[in-house]
Amino acid sequence: NISKEVAVVTGGNRGIGLEICKQLASNGVTVVLTARDEKRGAEAVSTLGTLGFSNVVFHQLDVSDPSSAVRLADFIKEKFGKLDILVNNAAITSTITEISDPETFRQELAGKDTVEKLERIRKHSTEPYEQAEKCLRTNYHGTKAVTKAMLPLLLTSSHGRIVNISSSYGLLRFFSGEEFKQELNNIDNLSEQRLDELSELFLTDFKHGHLEPRGWPVEGGFSAYKVSKALMNAYSRILAKEHPSLCINCVHPGFVQTDMSFQVGLLSVEDGARGALMMAMVPKGGMSGAYLDRTEVAPF
Ligand code: NDP
Repeated sequence: NISKEVAVVTGGNRGIGLEICKQLASNGVTVVLTARDEKRGAEAVSTLGTLGFSNVVFHQLDVSDPSSAVRLADFIKEKFGKLDILVNNAAITSTITEISDPETFRQELAGKDTVEKLERIRKHSTEPYEQAEKCLRTNYHGTKAVTKAMLPLLLTSSHGRIVNISSSYGLLRFFSGEEFKQELNNIDNLSEQRLDELSELFLTDFKHGHLEPRGWPVEGGFSAYKVSKALMNAYSRILAKEHPSLCINCVHPGFVQTDMSFQVGLLSVEDGARGALMMAMVPKGGMSGAYLDRTEVAPF
């Protein structure tokens, strides 16, 4: 049925991405579940198939490889001729975390609140330069490359939507520098080129140990992850302004039980995917350029 809506989900093989694929498929949407690894992706599609979801197909996509995004766009164009929904979910953290005994770790953290849990994860983590760089290349530049490859197809749809899975860690309040906060919040005067410059400036400052004096997010760690999501949020807002016919929004899923949170998150993936689904199914002419904390609109 060619009138059916078509969605692409990045990082769809596990965690929140897999759940978003499932919920979209439940809503009758044809889902292109993408994953960087062919085997993991195909397995996820087959798992959904055994659960009765026959409207899910697999295509390879490594968001950090622009040529892979172009191949995906060619596939969508050939097979469906349009794209209705893009969910940019794939991401990595900027830290390397070593937890020798994950089961004991999880037991120790049972019943603790989010702040305490995140602090305990941080205590086991380091943020090496290489990982910080990879994080920006994946979460910010990768999301942008995939979005650009999909944009012409989304503009072919009568109701194109982009859902950027963000994080409360990308909120501007984590920047200690007032100038960064103001610049990243002043969307009318912000350009994509400036966001790219900020990404490079961050990495240079990271290398030279200048994060704190410059006003980047330092307290509580995860600096590059926070910057990657803040830049993605700003890009999302710029794009929403440029393309008023599309609905483009950012969603923080909450603190969710996935591998990224060492399965100590507070929410199930079902609950974590709720806001993303809401924005994926937002009606034509609906909200755009917004940030949702789970299912509630909140400031960036
Ligand atoms: P997971 O680590 O469980 O899953 C991440 C997914 O992204 C995996 O499918 C992974 O693939 C994929 N991925 C990573 N790098 C790439 C890449 N280069 N190309 C394609 N796919 C890639 O994380 P979550 O499900 O928890 O996170 C989903 C989203 O939610 C992320 O954007 C995250 O930042 C956000 N988020 C999560 C929170 C939480 O509490 N869990 C809180 C706030 C935000 P592979 O299996 O190959 O590694």
